[in-house]
Amino acid sequence: MFDLLKYSIVILISILFCSAAEAQRNIYPLDKGYLVEKNLYPALLKIQVLNPELVKLHILGFSGTEELPIYGLEIGYPQATKNVLMIGQHHSDEVLGVEIVFAWAEKLAKEADSDKKIEAILQHYRFWIVPTINPEGYKVFTEGLYRYKRKNNRDTNQNNILELQWDGVDLNRNYPVFWDEDSLLPPTHRYYKGTAPASEPEVQTIVSLAQKHQFEIAIFYHSSYTGAFSERIFLPYLDENNEHQKPIYEETLHFAQRLAENLKKDYLPGKYEVSDGPVSRVGNARNYFFHIHRTRAILIEVGGMDKKGKSIIYPSARIKNKIVKKHIAALKKVFYETLI
Ligand SMILES: [Zn+2]
Repeated sequence: MFDLLKYSIVILISILFCSAAEAQRNIYPLDKGYLVEKNLYPALLKIQVLNPELVKLHILGFSGTEELPIYGLEIGYPQATKNVLMIGQHHSDEVLGVEIVFAWAEKLAKEADSDKKIEAILQHYRFWIVPTINPEGYKVFTEGLYRYKRKNNRDTNQNNILELQWDGVDLNRNYPVFWDEDSLLPPTHRYYKGTAPASEPEVQTIVSLAQKHQFEIAIFYHSSYTGAFSERIFLPYLDENNEHQKPIYEETLHFAQRLAENLKKDYLPGKYEVSDGPVSRVGNARNYFFHIHRTRAILIEVGGMDKKGKSIIYPSARIKNKIVKKHIAALKKVFYETLI
C-alpha cells in the first residue's frame, strides 16, 4: 500500500513537471484559448454590450487585398479628453499584443463602474484600442496556415498567386515618415516597405485616425521571434536638434520606464528594460506618431526568452493568460499614476 502511494506520488510529480516544462514553448497551430480572426468581431461586440454607454465599436477601415475590417474600440467617459491609442498587432505571428489590448479593453468595460482607479483613468483618458491592423495576416496565422506570416497579403511580386511566405508589405515600415531613408528591399523580403509611404490601406486607416484625433500616448505591441528584442520597450528616434521634441521625449521615456519597472520577465529573473540603443529612422508607427503628431509613442516587445535563449511568442494559453494579466496590471498602475 505504502509503495503504491509512493509510486503514485512519483507519477503525479512527473506529470506536473512534464506539463510545466512542455508548456514553455511555442505552440502552433495556436493553443485553444487564443482569440482567432473569425471570433474577433463577436468578441469585440461582447465588450461593447458589457457597457454600451462607455464602449463604441468602430470599423476604422479595411485591409487592402481581402477588404477585411479593421476594428477599433473607443472607450472613455464623455469628459475624457486625452486620447490613447493601443495597437495590438502589425505583424501576423505576433499575437500576444492582440490578447493584451483585448483584455485591457475588457477590463475597462467590466470594471468602469466598480473600480475607482479604472473609473478615474476613464474620466481622463479615451482609449482607442485596435487589436490588429493586419487582419489578413492575423487570419492566415490564427487559422494555422503559416506560422512565419508577418506581412499583409498584397501580391507584391505580382504573379496573381498568394504566396504566404513571400507576398505582402511590412506594415510597420510603411508609415509616412522617414520612409525614403529605409533600405529598398525586394518585394519578397520580410521587411519590404511597400512602393510608397502609406501605400497600404491598413496604414492609411491609422493615419486617418491620427488626423482625426490627437493622441497623447500611443502603445504598439510586438513580439520578437528571434528574441533579439524580447521584453524591451523601444522609444522613437529623437532629433537632438529639435528643441520641441525633448520634453515630449522625456515624458515618453518616463512612461516607458514606469511600465518596464512593473513588468517582470516571463521566464528569466529580472524586469523589462527600456532600450537605450540606436533607433532607426524608418517609417514605423512610433516614429510616425512622435514626429508627425507629437505623441508619446512606444513599442513594447512582449513574449519572453526561456532559459535556453529561445523566444516564446505564442505559448500555451495558460502561460499566455499569465502574461496578459501581468501587462494589464502594469497598464492600470502606470496610467493611474499619470493622474496623480
Ligand atoms: Zn513586430
